[in-house]
Amino acid sequence: MLKGKNALITGASRGIGRAIALELAKNGVNLVINYAGNEAKAQSVVEEVEQLGVKAFKVQADVANETEVKAMIKEAINEFGSLDILVNNAGITKDNLLMRMKEEEFDQVINTNLKGAFICTKAVTRQMMKQKAGRIINVASIVGVSGNPGQANYVAAKAGVIGLTKSTAKELASRNILVNAVAPGFIATDMTDVMTEEQRERTLAMIPLAALGKPEDVARVVRFLASEDANYITGQTIHIDGGMVM
Ligand code: NAD
Repeated sequence: MLKGKNALITGASRGIGRAIALELAKNGVNLVINYAGNEAKAQSVVEEVEQLGVKAFKVQADVANETEVKAMIKEAINEFGSLDILVNNAGITKDNLLMRMKEEEFDQVINTNLKGAFICTKAVTRQMMKQKAGRIINVASIVGVSGNPGQANYVAAKAGVIGLTKSTAKELASRNILVNAVAPGFIATDMTDVMTEEQRERTLAMIPLAALGKPEDVARVVRFLASEDANYITGQTIHIDGGMVM
């Protein structure tokens, strides 16, 4: 169903972004692999997905930098001729208790996670409007729904991503551009690798399915939202969290 479509995934050199790239490639989607700094890792994802028979190339761009994002989208359209799917996946954490959180830590997390999604969404919208079709999938987080101590910056950004999803879904529906979000719980990636054993045990006790998720668990839902099976779904946030937040 997705064969021959073209997608851009931000922050796709590792973790959930890499898993989404592999899942879409398995389904015949050509890919732009965006990355922030690690060129070698991005190149290895390009080679992995090419082995699955799709076209792919990597572009370095900071999602929070509009000039870089516009240049990346232009390159994607020049190369592939269309852009059918955008996955706003790039994200960072800079955790700290509220009283210790510096203004820069707040700004950096908001800029990457929320402003980055806004900039990329805005940059693909003109092309998707011309095509009269498009799918935008935002990677939010369950903590954007539930809140989390020590993550005021990240939670505000992810709650913002859910709001951005709803607002853009309403605004772009008449152009047949569908916008949805996924809200992962705790997924085993570099981002959660920093948890101490005690934090891990406390986290597992809060998850009804009693395990951390895998990046592939998120990737399969993104593939569904990008597909024709999700033709009548927009503005939604799907929790992928082992039942943690109901
Ligand atoms: P990760 O740290 O492995 O991956 C994040 C990716 O984003 C990296 O490749 C990084 O280089 C890239 N990135 C960071 N800043 C960027 C920028 N300014 N421009 C472009 N790329 C940038 O973490 P992950 O767990 O794979 O996270 C992917 C997404 O999933 C993030 O949005 C994260 O907030 C979200 N998420 C993760 C979890 C989890 O448990 N791992 C849970 C909920 C949500």
